[in-house]
This record gives sequence, structure tokens and C-alpha cells, in this order.
Amino acid sequence: MDYEKLAELLFPSISYVPQDMEERYPARTLPEGAKVTRMAPSPTGFMHLGNLFGAMVDERLAHQSGGIFYLRIEDTDRKRLVENGVETIIKVFDRFGLNFDEGATLSGDKGDYGPYTQSERGYIYQTYVKDLVRRGMAYPCFCTEEELAQMRRVQEANKENPGYYGKYAKCRNLTMEEIEENLKNGKSYVIRFRSSGSIDHKIKFTDLVKGQMEITENDQDVVILKSDGLPTYHFAHVIDDHLMHTTHVVRGEEWLSTLPIHLQLFSALGFKPPKYAHTAQLMKMDGTSRRKLSKRKDPEFALDYYFQTGVPIEGAKEYLMTLLNSNFEEWRRANPNADLNDFPFSTKKMGSSGALYDLDKLNDVCKNVVSRMSADQVYEKTVDWARQYDPDFAALLTGNEAYAKSILAIGRGGKKPRKDFGRYSEVKEYISFFFDDLFRPDYSQMPQNVDKKTASAILRDYAAKDKLEEDNSSWFEAIKAMCPSYGFTADTKAYKKDPSAYKGSVGDLSMILRVAVCGRSQAPDLFTVMQLLGFDKVKERLVRAAGLLDSGSADIL
Ligand code: GLU
Repeated sequence: MDYEKLAELLFPSISYVPQDMEERYPARTLPEGAKVTRMAPSPTGFMHLGNLFGAMVDERLAHQSGGIFYLRIEDTDRKRLVENGVETIIKVFDRFGLNFDEGATLSGDKGDYGPYTQSERGYIYQTYVKDLVRRGMAYPCFCTEEELAQMRRVQEANKENPGYYGKYAKCRNLTMEEIEENLKNGKSYVIRFRSSGSIDHKIKFTDLVKGQMEITENDQDVVILKSDGLPTYHFAHVIDDHLMHTTHVVRGEEWLSTLPIHLQLFSALGFKPPKYAHTAQLMKMDGTSRRKLSKRKDPEFALDYYFQTGVPIEGAKEYLMTLLNSNFEEWRRANPNADLNDFPFSTKKMGSSGALYDLDKLNDVCKNVVSRMSADQVYEKTVDWARQYDPDFAALLTGNEAYAKSILAIGRGGKKPRKDFGRYSEVKEYISFFFDDLFRPDYSQMPQNVDKKTASAILRDYAAKDKLEEDNSSWFEAIKAMCPSYGFTADTKAYKKDPSAYKGSVGDLSMILRVAVCGRSQAPDLFTVMQLLGFDKVKERLVRAAGLLDSGSADIL
């Protein structure tokens, strides 16, 4: 067979040779040890946690080593594309603060190794495919879908491995005349790689996450160029990561099964393969068993979920980091206020089996993250969230900026900051009692050991004051001083010892006030709340609750 002739026949318009490409994409000038990584999503419109999980590894490996992290758009599967898919990717990752040094951006490509969108790189792949054909290592295959299906049926019946290999690789040995005839008849074709591998051969391979492994050589003549002239993932991966000088490929473990194909292609093309880190799947508990997080069943798998429900970006990333590196939590305990990027990330600390994703743990991490923020930060981020998802609440906040910030400042900044909420969507409920429009009191949370008449008397008594005390300690003294008139004790120890000796304790007394003022038993420091509300409003609420208690209203159970 005259391969040179075949190559010209198949690719008449490709005049480049691989050498041209090698010159066009020279080695990068980076410091010793700098890593080059990429995120390479397909613009299907759906960005999920797995994408973010891998991208965080890419980003850390690159930026920790003074290297490059770039974005490549893998759009060769034209059937899966959606409108604005690329825009979605760029915007989502921008919101997650993953800064690409190079790659596709909203205003075109940035960097010297583009185009960064695979559909624009057709001639590059074809240059290499043409060269493989010229070297007898690739050939056109005219098999139809029906023929391939028939082949699979035979293989199934014979209990043989499925696929295009050995005697099943029908187009492997077509003559030039047959090929010319097929082309003349306009038959559609793909280009396959001519594999010289055997499933009897094992290759040793070291993955940065999975460790040492033995994999079986590929014996399949895989498709490298589809009938539309675009490459398959396998071929595009090898060409792009070679020309863009990727040093580390981080991708999901679902790609491990096709790794032998990739290694074989790297070798056939004379390229050095990158290092690989195949990341474990994100799992979730479903009853008592574990399963993979699923697009269909788990809303938290979609990255949009985090925006919609107001999960702080920092919290989501921090939680993923606890799943990525086993020593992260220990580091965080030792460095509570350090930037996430100061953590010395290492692939050596990555787990090789599925990481369990747990929404409760995410919420705990988020609560911690929010508790470390300043009131101004929480305010800004909540307003940002609410502008998109709860405009009325955004208007309420911006219309009362100073007040809202003072509310959010309660219990913040000390050694043990309050951890009332982990999501911006929870702020509304948390601060609702500070705004009459949102105040929905639940007086049933009054202490059950105190009768309604006594509770009402306490409320009216406090409401009769002319003003609020000056500070927290004089306020508490005043509360304590009220105790004896109601048969309560200010001595909590004595109360604990013999509760039957009293009608209640100072704790009950302040709880009665708290539920009347805040409409709930769980609320921040009551004196501060009263101060912020102002004594007039406090009085109004006390009297209202007392009235309901006196009337035996159904609102008070
Ligand atoms: N386009 C592939 C995907 O979205 C990327 C895999 C890789 O990173 O190599 O799954």
C-alpha cells in the first residue's frame, strides 16, 4: 500500500506537517518544577461538582508551583453542545474564583497556545492524523452503524471482547482500489488508529492519586478522527496536551479505562505523556449505602445549586478541600484565619477511593467560614445573593444598610464568633425579627414551667421602665433584681439544686422577655437586640405579647 498516496487522497488540503506544529507551539519558558494544568470541560451547559473538584486540584498544582492553569473548551461532540455553554463555563468558574492564566475567555482567546477551543483546531489534528496515515498507523474505516452493530452481536454470541480489533477490524486491510471506490461513492468514513497492542501485554503505570497500577495494553483500532473531520476525545487529548505542554492531567477516574489508548497514542506520536491524577468519584450516602452523586437525583451536584441557595463560594471550596486533602482539616484548625490558598496542597494526600459528600458537613464548614467574615462582608454577599434570588429582601437590606450591618455584627469578631447561618439564603430568617414586616413571633416557645399570668406580669413590668439600661451588665442586674417579686431566683445554681423551691429562674425570666421581643427562643444577646430595636419597639412587643398571654390567645399554646 502506498501510504503517502493514501494520506494525500484523504487530506488533500492539509499541507502542514507535524514539525510545523511543534514549531508553532514551542516549549514554555517556566521556572523549574512549574506545573501546567488545564480544565477541559465540554460546553454542555451543565457544570457540576466533579468539574469544580478537579479544577481545584488543577488550579492549586499550577499556582502553587508558579505554573499555568488554562481553560480549554472540548466541543468536538457537536451533539452535546448547548447555546451559551462556553459562556456558562467561564462565568461559573469565575464566580468560584478559579483564575485561568490562559485559554478561552468571554472576549476571545488569551495566551500563546491557542486556539483553546477544539472545534477551531481541526487542521492541527488533521496534520497529525495525516502523518499517521502516511506512516501506515491510521486508516479510513467505512463501516456503517449497522455493520458495527452486527459485529457486536457476533462478538456477544461468541462471548468475545467487544470492539474493533483483530479479525473484526474489517477496514484495516482495504486495498487502495477499495478505498478509492468508497471515496468515489461518497461513503462516509472515520479514521482509525492501527493498534499494534495486545491484551496479553500489561503496562506498569503510576497515577498520582491511584498509585502504582498495571493496565492492559489497548488492542482496539479506536476512532481518532470522526466523519465530520473532528477528533475523538482520545486523539484531541493527546494532541492538545502535548502541544499546550500540559504537565499534569487531572481528570475523573472514569477515564482510567481508556488510559491505555492515550498512552499508546502518545507513544505512537513520539510524545512524552503528562503525569496523570485520576480523581475519585464524589459519593453520597443513600440510606445505608453509598452511591455516586447523580445529576438526576442530587440537586447539590449542579454548581448552580450553590449560587441559588446562597452557599458561600469560600465555604464550598473549603469543604471540597477537606475532601481533597486528608490533612486539610488539621491545617485549618492550626490556621483558622489563613487564606485557603496558603494550604500546602499535595496530590499525595488525595484519597484514591470515592469521597463522601455530605450536605450537613458542607453547612458546618460554611457556618465556620461565615463566622470568620466581617459584618460588612456578610452584608455585601447577602445583598449580592438577594439581588438575584430575593429582590424584596435585597431592597429591605439596602434600604436599612447601617441597621442591617449592626445586626450582622452581633457576636462577630470575638474568639468564639456566632455560627447562626451558613448560607446567604438563611440570613433573612435569622434577622427577620429585627424588621416588623418579617416578624412572625412564635410565643409557644415561652418557658413551659411559668404560667401565663406570671409571664405577662413580667413583660408588663419590664415594659413599664422609662428606658433601656446603659450596658449589658446593668441590664442583667436589672433582670436579676426582678426575680424575687415573682418567686424566681437569680441564683441558677440554687435553682438547679432544687427547682421546686422557686417559680422559675433568671434564665426563665430572660427567656420570657426574649421570646416576646424576638418571637423565638434562639436569638443573639438580648440586650444587644433590645438596643438595636430601640426601647419603643421593645415595649410595643412586650405589651403585645402580654396582651396575648392575658387573653389566652390561641397564638400562645
Ligand atoms: N472533556 C472531558 C470532560 O468533560 C475532559 C476530561 C479531561 O479533563 O481530560 O469530561
